[in-house]
Amino acid sequence: MYSEILNYLPEDRLLFNEEMKNHTTFKIGGPVDLMVLPQNEEEIHSIISFCRQRDIPLFIFGAGSNLLVRDRGIRGIAMKLGENLDEVEVNGEEIQAQAGVKLSTLAQIAAFYSLSGLEFAEGIPGSLGGALVMNAGAFDGEMKEIVTQARAISPDGSFKTFQNEEIQFGYRQSIFQNNGYIIISAGLKLVTGNREEIEKRMLEYARRRGEKQPLDKPSAGSTFKRPPGFYVGPMLEELGLKGYQIGGAQVSSKHAGFIVNNGNATARDVLELIASIQQKAKERFGVDLQPEIRIVGEE
Ligand SMILES: Cc1cc2nc3c(=O)[nH]c(=O)nc-3n(C[C@H](O)[C@H](O)[C@H](O)COP(=O)(O)OP(=O)(O)OC[C@H]3O[C@@H](n4cnc5c(N)ncnc54)[C@H](O)[C@@H]3O)c2cc1C
Repeated sequence: MYSEILNYLPEDRLLFNEEMKNHTTFKIGGPVDLMVLPQNEEEIHSIISFCRQRDIPLFIFGAGSNLLVRDRGIRGIAMKLGENLDEVEVNGEEIQAQAGVKLSTLAQIAAFYSLSGLEFAEGIPGSLGGALVMNAGAFDGEMKEIVTQARAISPDGSFKTFQNEEIQFGYRQSIFQNNGYIIISAGLKLVTGNREEIEKRMLEYARRRGEKQPLDKPSAGSTFKRPPGFYVGPMLEELGLKGYQIGGAQVSSKHAGFIVNNGNATARDVLELIASIQQKAKERFGVDLQPEIRIVGEE
């Protein structure tokens, strides 16, 4: 069924039965039938048509830093955009970039051009596309404030440019979580600042991350969204869950808001740990904790 895809992509950018754990920061996830690594808009478009014509499910991801992929993996095709598609163009205070570029690379480019507004992104290990989908943010900054527009392809193959208001950004939320569009590129508007000060802020943010977050262990960042009126880390600490472990998955003993993979965690371990935390938070605080990480793959 997949051999015809060689008409669109060379063999070295097709990975059959590829373990998703090799492509997620959690280092968890079973095999995908076929992973494709497109390099440009035309290739993305061809793959969408290929899947649509043959009814093959298509999953898109960027850098895999907000993903929990189940142990049975993903059926169909997974298109990884975080590897290629990394062109960046700076014009005055505006940056135009392809969806696969690393957010931290963008932050460094912005700093190089003395542009302020992306400092918060230093240390977020995602791609630009994934950051738009999640409205990624940190230290009082978020994508919503700097994105002007995003160019995307619909599941039926048509192109559309979304203006900021149309993206319906909310807390770790955007329209791209529900509309099936694939983001190809985006425009950002920053403000001119002082390069030294920008770099100083980025260093400070990196220092604060290193101090608080378990960066030495595989994770997908914050496990849960912040519920109104609570902070997840302190809440889980109060529940005595810091260090709590199921199989190889553990509530980080450095920052309870993160679940870490202690080396051999399965997606099942993480899902059981999430369910157990949710139950305890509900019983004690009456709070419904919602995962921030995206859980995908065959059940
Ligand atoms: C150590 C660590 C620290 C982190 N710190 C932060 C933080 O401070 N703030 C924060 O907000 N997040 C943080 N994260 C989470 C994560 O980095 C962000 O959510 C990031 O924006 C995800 O980008 P990604 O490319 O990895 O997306 P992926 O994990 O690859 O995908 C996330 C979702 O977006 C979809 N998607 C990805 N790319 C596209 C595209 N081009 N078009 C359409 N859909 C797409 C996927 O289908 C999936 O649903 C952290 C993660 C780690 C591991």
